[in-house]
Amino acid sequence: MSAAASNYRLDGVYPQRQDGFFMQRVKLPAGVISAGQARTVARIAARFGQGKIHLTTRGSMEIHWLPEESLPLVKRELTKAGLTSRGACGGAVRGITCGSHGAQGFPEIESLARRLQLHFTGNPRFERLPKKFKIGIEASAAGGRHLIQDVGLVLSGAEEGRNSYDIWIAGGLGREPRPGFLFCERLPEERLIPVIEAVIRVYAANAPPPKRLKFLAAQFGEEQLRQLIEAESVYGEEIPPVTGLPLQLTAPPERGTRFELPVFAGELTSGELEEIAAAADKYSDGVLLVTANQDIALQLGPEIDAATALTDLRQLSGTAAAAGGCTMRVCPGNHECLMGLAPTREVARQLSAAISEAGRSLVWALSGCPNSCSQPQLADVGIVSSRLTTGENGEKTPLFDLYRRSGAGLGERVLEKLPLAQLLTEVGRLV
Ligand code: SF4
Repeated sequence: MSAAASNYRLDGVYPQRQDGFFMQRVKLPAGVISAGQARTVARIAARFGQGKIHLTTRGSMEIHWLPEESLPLVKRELTKAGLTSRGACGGAVRGITCGSHGAQGFPEIESLARRLQLHFTGNPRFERLPKKFKIGIEASAAGGRHLIQDVGLVLSGAEEGRNSYDIWIAGGLGREPRPGFLFCERLPEERLIPVIEAVIRVYAANAPPPKRLKFLAAQFGEEQLRQLIEAESVYGEEIPPVTGLPLQLTAPPERGTRFELPVFAGELTSGELEEIAAAADKYSDGVLLVTANQDIALQLGPEIDAATALTDLRQLSGTAAAAGGCTMRVCPGNHECLMGLAPTREVARQLSAAISEAGRSLVWALSGCPNSCSQPQLADVGIVSSRLTTGENGEKTPLFDLYRRSGAGLGERVLEKLPLAQLLTEVGRLV
C-alpha cells in the first residue's frame, strides 16, 4: 500500500484488493441516516463507483470501487450532505454503533450516539491511536454486542429523566477474541465522556500499534487496567447534562410499526437504495436505519396505514431472495477486501441453499478472514474463513472454522479447517 493510501485511512478509506480502487466508509451514528443522505450515498456510488453499497454490521455504509482521483470529490459530496467519514477507518474512534433499534429507549440512544460521534470525530486528541477504538451503545445486554467493543454501554436505568449505563471495556473479536469486562455499573450520563476519554488516554499511552485495548486487559489484568483508567485526571469529571432541542432523527418505536427489509449480504445497488429512500420519505418520516444484521429498518409513522405500507414495502427490491429466508451477516471477503481469504457472497449463497429448514430460523454470520467483521462469534452459527490450503495443482482454497453460540458470552469454535464441501454438509445437519 502506498503512503498516500495509508494516509486516507483516517478519512474512512481503505484500498481494495483490486489495484487502483478504494472503499469509502461512512459513519452513521447508531446506524441512522436520513433519506436525503441515503440518496447522496446512492448517487456517489453510481457516479464515482460501480453503483454498489455495502451495509456493515456496525451500521455504516461503504461505497466500493472508487478510483483514487474521485476520493476528494466523494468527501465533498458527503460533507455537503452532512455525512462524515472521518475516523471510519484507521486508529480512531469508529462509528458509534447500536443493535437495539427496536428498543423503547432507542431515540435517546441515538441522541447519545450523535453526541459521542460529534465529540470524538476529527478530534486530534482521539486520532492516531494504536488501532481502531470501538464504542457501542445497547438498550440491553441480551445480544452480547457490548462484549465486543472497546467501550460498550448498556442502558441500566433512568433517574430524574437522566439515563445511566453499565460500562464494559476491552472487548474485541479478530484473531484473539476476548469478551469485554464490566468496568462500572449505573454510570450517569454526565460521566460518560470523561470515563471514555480516560480509557482512550490509557489505551493511547500503553498499547503498542497495532494492538487493541483488549491487549492491555490481557497484559496488565483487568484490575490494573481499571486502576490506570481511574488514575487519569479526566476520569472523575462531570459534564453537565445536555439541554436543548433533541438531536435524534428517530421517534419512540411504540409510535408505529417497524419494518425490516432484508438485504442479502448487506449488498445494495444505488438504484435499490434510492428506492428505499423514497419509501422512507413516504412511510417513515424520511429516516432509515442500518441494522446490526446488515438490513434496513423503517419505523412507520403513527399516521401511516400499516397494512398498505407493508404491502408496498414487501415489493421493494429483490435483495432478500438470495438469502433464502436466512438472516446471514456477510463481510465483503475476497470480492473486494485485501484481507479476504474466501469469496464470501458466493459461499453465502451456497450456505443458504444447504441450510436445513430448521437452521433457517437461526442467525448466521460469515467472515472472509479471522478479523471477524461480520461478528461470527455473536451469531447462533458463525463461520470464519481462517486459512488457505494449497492443492496438488498449486491452487489455494479457503478452509473454514465453525462457531456456535449458546450462552450470553461469545460463541465457541466447534469445528475447524473444513473445506467448503464439508462445511456445507455440516451446516445441513445443524438445527
Ligand atoms: S472479516 Fe476479513 S475479509 Fe471480511 S471484511 Fe473483515 S477484514 Fe475483510
